[in-house]
Amino acid sequence: MGNFRYKLAQFMIGRNGFDTFCHALLKLSLFLIIADIIVPGRILQKIGLLTIFYSYFRAFSRNVVRRRAENYWYVETIDMPIKAYRGRDHKNYVYFKCPTCKQTLRAPKGRGKIRVTCSRCHSKFEKKV
Ligand SMILES: [Zn+2]
Repeated sequence: MGNFRYKLAQFMIGRNGFDTFCHALLKLSLFLIIADIIVPGRILQKIGLLTIFYSYFRAFSRNVVRRRAENYWYVETIDMPIKAYRGRDHKNYVYFKCPTCKQTLRAPKGRGKIRVTCSRCHSKFEKKV
């Protein structure tokens, strides 16, 4: 077993390895393969298998620069917004963006029309919450 780990480590030298994007692809593939049960035509299963293949392709890829750029794109565009959304208190607050600087702001729910001053650019606007 120690020998196998050593060989695997040798094999992975110079390769991208399983990054955040790879792990997300594997999770997605699992979801697709399970969801395939309720969708006729085995299409989700095929997409799921392709997703697994793509994840392993990325992990074993020697084009580390390209794979890192893809991973960066994934983290910035999908992973971080999802984590930010999950970390918010949607029960008690309304979240919205400042129309001027796009900063995300929040206000307590159910106060009707309020006047908002952006914490970043200090522009003022009205918002119904
Ligand atoms: Zn602003």
